[in-house]
Amino acid sequence: MKSYAIAAIPGDGIGAEVIQAGMNVLKTLAARDGNFQLHIETFDWGSEYYLANDCMMPADGLEKLKKFDAIYFGSAGDPRVQDHISLWGLRLAICQPLEQYANVRPARLLPGIEGPLKNIGPGDLDWVIVRENTEGEYAGAGGRIHQGFGHEIGLDVAIFTREGTERIQRFALELARSRPAKKLTLVTKSNAQRHGMVMWDDTFAAIREDYPDLTIDKMLVDAMTTRMVLDPTSIDVVVATNLHADILSDLAAALTGSIGIAPTANLNPERQFPSMFEPIHGSAFDIMGKGVANPIGAFWSAVLMLEHLGEKIAATILMEAIERVTSYGNIMPADLGGSATTREITDAMIRLLEGHNI
Ligand code: ATP
Repeated sequence: MKSYAIAAIPGDGIGAEVIQAGMNVLKTLAARDGNFQLHIETFDWGSEYYLANDCMMPADGLEKLKKFDAIYFGSAGDPRVQDHISLWGLRLAICQPLEQYANVRPARLLPGIEGPLKNIGPGDLDWVIVRENTEGEYAGAGGRIHQGFGHEIGLDVAIFTREGTERIQRFALELARSRPAKKLTLVTKSNAQRHGMVMWDDTFAAIREDYPDLTIDKMLVDAMTTRMVLDPTSIDVVVATNLHADILSDLAAALTGSIGIAPTANLNPERQFPSMFEPIHGSAFDIMGKGVANPIGAFWSAVLMLEHLGEKIAATILMEAIERVTSYGNIMPADLGGSATTREITDAMIRLLEGHNI
């Protein structure tokens, strides 16, 4: 029997609630499947850990993580800790050194969920947004001088390397090739940002000829937001920089009903290091502890994790269970207009996976 070592980092706020729900569902799924085992080790890293230890994870945290097959992550963010500390101290501190350069964010209207767009049903909106995940605007280069004075300077430098650009663009082109629609949109802002973004265009121009079977187009990021709202069926795979794709994927999540359902895979495609799977949403402190967090984003992220591990059948079964729950109608969480709790949705998933009706 195959066995996978999973590092769970529930983190802050509702991250802890939805990752616990996800682990319960994953354990049920593995027991039902019978062909693989999951050994899940949970790490208490995050903002509580920071308040006690002055760091979001221990110094040997990365070395610990390298021994796992995958990482199942909740969220990092707490009102008591400045956002840039929690983000850079945990999520980015994992993604960048583990070379998880492909951030993959599927966005799909699930059955039973009505998004804010008119005349759009399941199947009409089926996108994958590919975000560069290790450099660009989130490279961390910059600084502040003369802090607190009127002549203070704050500098954030976006760093785009040819190598980093080409590898994410090729990843997205290959992904588009594997999908039925075979379409790819390159998103930049190369009219206003005339150096790194123009290099993105040039790099893309040099490699797109290797993909004559794809339908390819290019858009500026501002125009892309309009297209996502007004012409959603024209989109398939989108590739963009770290910042641009971060924003576009939040919009995508909202257009599919709620940020609470959207999943993310932070992939190291070469499999040199473990990849990390997490719901797109953050710690949502406004609903923490109320038991109403939507766990679907965490479940869908678990689907991506199983796919990456090669457990395709289990991934399909889990996705089908999610879709049965959403299409059922009576088990909707508050962010999708219902009143089901995290627990009720998780229990419904477990009942389905155990072969019962809901
Ligand atoms: P962070 O600072 O960690 O990114 P945040 O609270 O600023 O977190 P999000 O958690 O991404 O931002 O989400 C914004 C709002 O959307 C939340 O305050 C919450 O009301 C809602 N929300 C997000 N995720 C969920 C979820 N899984 N279930 C229900 N509501 C959610």
